[in-house]
Amino acid sequence: MRALVKHADEIGLRLEDVPEPEVGINDVLIRVERTGICGTDVHIWEWHDWAKEAVATPLVIGHEFVGRIVAVGSNVSDFYPGDRVSGEGHVVCGRCRHCLAGRRHLCANAKSVGVQRPGAFAELIALPMANVWKQWDHVDDEVAAIFDPFGNAVHTALSTEILGEDVLITGAGPIGCMAAAVVRHAAARFVVVSEPNAYRRELAAKLGATLVVDPRERHLHSVQEELGMVEGFDVGLEMSGHPDALRTMVANMAHGGRIAMLGIPDREIAIDWNAVVFDMLTIRGIHGREMYETWYQMSVMLQSGLDVKPVITHRFRWDSYEEAFAVAASGESGKILLEWI
Ligand code: NAD
Ligand code: ZN
Repeated sequence: MRALVKHADEIGLRLEDVPEPEVGINDVLIRVERTGICGTDVHIWEWHDWAKEAVATPLVIGHEFVGRIVAVGSNVSDFYPGDRVSGEGHVVCGRCRHCLAGRRHLCANAKSVGVQRPGAFAELIALPMANVWKQWDHVDDEVAAIFDPFGNAVHTALSTEILGEDVLITGAGPIGCMAAAVVRHAAARFVVVSEPNAYRRELAAKLGATLVVDPRERHLHSVQEELGMVEGFDVGLEMSGHPDALRTMVANMAHGGRIAMLGIPDREIAIDWNAVVFDMLTIRGIHGREMYETWYQMSVMLQSGLDVKPVITHRFRWDSYEEAFAVAASGESGKILLEWI
């Protein structure tokens, strides 16, 4: 089958003919229809230090997808050929304390699809049935392909009370933009998005931000003034991984404010801990999605009017993957899809 394969010590990916995945008794074999390109995939393409450590080369990468089941293992029930499904990208051990207690998102032994085990940039992917999510009929095919990053946005945004709160989002990548739509849907009052990239500020506004700001040009205190806010932001969603973004966030929170940190910094960050202590801030790390509460929340919000589709700005056929990755690396895009059918 055709697949995009990462090889060690080189930039880029190779389009190769590789053997079809083996299907274990608990596995589901899926014909991939659409995939999303994630920032992680771009890091793997560029062969960052992180990727050198993390990726088990040679490997088919990619983890955001939707497809249809073509075969199931002998032990699989409730999944059938033809079902439209996506995959949870963290394959957990099932045996640790958290897994046994139903807190699978906290498994310390999780393996990542497309990083440590074969991924979705291929015609076929095999996954354990416990990682397969049957997409509900009302969910758009393209949106179904991005449930993985959409889930990051939902997991982060709904990790604290949102109703009536003023929310600051730093970073308007695809995930920050979707988070803006989610907190709007969850009835936040003001949703301010801070982002240096003009293309992405516009996208955040399209997805429902009350106000977008270039952090290099405007202070958030003046934004608060314009909106008539007096005490600071109640909720901060850090979605850039940039040290300045976290520092600015800490400095603009209301007393008792809650920060959810999804952004992955590439170095240690020093922050004003006095502000954290005296303003009684909570900072909470967020990883992945809750299995499968986040998946349920995404599905029902789409049913009750949430629209994240405008975050998808580009579509390419699988054989134009080089062009697709170039656009992804440029920053002049929202979510980019690769189509396999
Ligand atoms: P992205 O890289 O596409 O977007 C990040 C955005 O932050 C960019 O548009 C960038 O211009 C902006 N930015 C840079 N400096 C900034 C600053 N000082 N203030 C405000 N914005 C700034 O990433 P994405 O795919 O949308 O993901 C968002 C973040 O979440 C990334 O850091 C990513 O690595 C991380 N992530 C974490 C998880 C997890 O499980 N914790 C999962 C997926 C992604
Ligand atoms: Zn576990």
